[in-house]
Amino acid sequence: MATYVIHTTTEDETKEIARRLGDVVAPGTLLTLEGDLGAGKTTFVKGLAIGLSIQEIVNSPTFTIIKEYEGRLPLYHMDAYRLEGEEDDLGLDEYVYGQGVTVIEWPEYVEEVLPEQRVSIAIAYTENGRTLTFKAVGQIYEDLCREALS
Ligand code: ADP
Ligand code: MG
Repeated sequence: MATYVIHTTTEDETKEIARRLGDVVAPGTLLTLEGDLGAGKTTFVKGLAIGLSIQEIVNSPTFTIIKEYEGRLPLYHMDAYRLEGEEDDLGLDEYVYGQGVTVIEWPEYVEEVLPEQRVSIAIAYTENGRTLTFKAVGQIYEDLCREALS
């Protein structure tokens, strides 16, 4: 496992970090995003989308559960907040083991069906911004984070 901790003071800085990951992610990548409401999870996905050359505007998928975007690779943006107990019906595997990039907000609610190998990102409020903590599990994910974040 590899851990990276990055502090940002603006929304744009958070997007820029995410863009760097989006620039180098490969098919089949899984990222999860934890953090309180307003922490910056969807902001992070907007930056990721820039790195994936997605033209469409990325918004919170809260009312659709999964939104798909076309870019250099497909992006599957999921909000698992309202899924507690319903994760079996979701066909999550098709996304997670597919050819796109899957990013899941509120992974706490689907933890039982998520692979351990992924980058888990936690965004926390701090006095003057946000702290982003990246935990990469698996060689592919450690390599990805080293390339994008160090
Ligand atoms: P979430 O998806 O976690 O509920 P959003 O990304 O929708 O959060 O909203 C984050 C809000 O916090 C935005 O209004 C954004 O402008 C603001 N913000 C302020 N500072 C930061 C920062 N350093 N990183 C990300 N967002 C920030
Ligand atoms: Mg959100």
